[in-house]
Amino acid sequence: MTATQPAGAAPAPSSPSSLWERSDAPSAPAPRLIRLELRGFKSFATRTVFAFEPGITAVVGPNGSGKSNVADAIRWVLGEQGHGALRAKRTEDVIFAGGQGRAPAGMAEAALTFDNAERWLPIDFAEVTVARRAYRTGESQYLINGRRVRLKDVALLTASLGQSHLVVGQGLVDAALSQRAEERRGLFEHAADLAGLRLKVAEAERSLAETEANSTRLADLLGELGPRLRSLERAARQAREWQGLREQLRELQRVHYGRLLAIAERAVTTTAAAATAAAAAVDAAREGADRLGVEEASAIRLMEEARSIAIAHDARRSALDERVRRAGYERDLAAERHAALGRRRADMADTQAALDEQVTGVSRQLERLGDELAELEAATRAGRADVAARQAAGVAARASR
Ligand code: ATP
Repeated sequence: MTATQPAGAAPAPSSPSSLWERSDAPSAPAPRLIRLELRGFKSFATRTVFAFEPGITAVVGPNGSGKSNVADAIRWVLGEQGHGALRAKRTEDVIFAGGQGRAPAGMAEAALTFDNAERWLPIDFAEVTVARRAYRTGESQYLINGRRVRLKDVALLTASLGQSHLVVGQGLVDAALSQRAEERRGLFEHAADLAGLRLKVAEAERSLAETEANSTRLADLLGELGPRLRSLERAARQAREWQGLREQLRELQRVHYGRLLAIAERAVTTTAAAATAAAAAVDAAREGADRLGVEEASAIRLMEEARSIAIAHDARRSALDERVRRAGYERDLAAERHAALGRRRADMADTQAALDEQVTGVSRQLERLGDELAELEAATRAGRADVAARQAAGVAARASR
């Protein structure tokens, strides 16, 4: 299938379906179609864009190539609810079902863009894109310029299009071609207003149904209220009496509360004076507290200083105690040494006496030995003299011989 835009060319008479702006409605500016984008809609698996330039746009292609699907998409995006008009049995039928090696699509989307420079559509945008989506879950979405809206919003926005735009189905063309000229004009006029009229009729039918429901409810109410009229009159009388009593009560309450108010105002005055005095007392107490705070701070400072001095004194006393303890220890040590020395002196005196005795003994021994030595020396000398005499006698004997 191909899309061509032969500007100014007449639509081919054999074209089975087409969409065009009404040539007999130029008095009012009509929003021109700019673009139709399809994605996953019927035979349009991938994103397909139909750009409608000024002039005539013809979509041509062989049978079954998807030309009617384009017209279906336009009907669908503008809110068509009848499956028959879309040549489908259920919503899912408009979603690409797969084929030619492509997997089925999960969603069908069609977006129709209008030129709204003249603000023909009641929305303050120069371009308006109306879009519709359908999912296999059955969920449907409507969007106007990308924002999610309700179907009603699309219907209200495009209600006026019925007077300027018309989708003519294949059957209608056949019918038109087989009719006489006057019948054909009537058919087109009827068809042209049909969309707008259909909407108005639906609206009127809805309000009619609402009105009928309201009047039924009213009739029911009247039927219900009739028998209760007397009791309602009694209730109304009681209500009036109650209203009078309520006025009296209000007056009594006004006087009573006026008195209470005067008493309360006097109490307020007294309390206010007491509050002022109490506030002054609070201020004075606060000043006193501030002063006490200052004094307390200086007392704390003095206490801290005294504490430091006491700590220093403690340290000195501990050092002195240590020195006293050490001096005592040294004194005890000296006394001990003194006692030991005394004991040693006594021992030494004993030793000296023993030694003196020994010296005396040894001296006596020496004297004895000296005497013995002198005797020995005398004996030695006598022996030597004897020896010398014997040697001289021997020499004389040898000489005589
Ligand atoms: P004709 O001139 O015979 O009316 P046409 O060109 O208008 O043909 P359409 O009727 O628009 O063609 O398109 C029909 C084609 O769309 C068929 O081939 C059909 O298989 C295909 N089609 C319809 N619905 C779907 C879908 N959900 N998924 C895939 N293809 C679909």
